[in-house]
Amino acid sequence: MTTESTRCEFCKIEIPSETCKLAAYTTMIDGREYNFCCKICAEKYRRKKAK
Ligand SMILES: [Zn+2]
Repeated sequence: MTTESTRCEFCKIEIPSETCKLAAYTTMIDGREYNFCCKICAEKYRRKKAK
């Protein structure tokens, strides 16, 4: 199986790998790559983690 779906680290919504590259938002936090469904979730997660 080469198909893998990703989940948004914040809201846990499933992101199909095909859609991922186009719609999903990937960012590096503490040297690790995290996937999110959108930039808003990424910001919220980063803020939650920062405290
Ligand atoms: Zn999300």
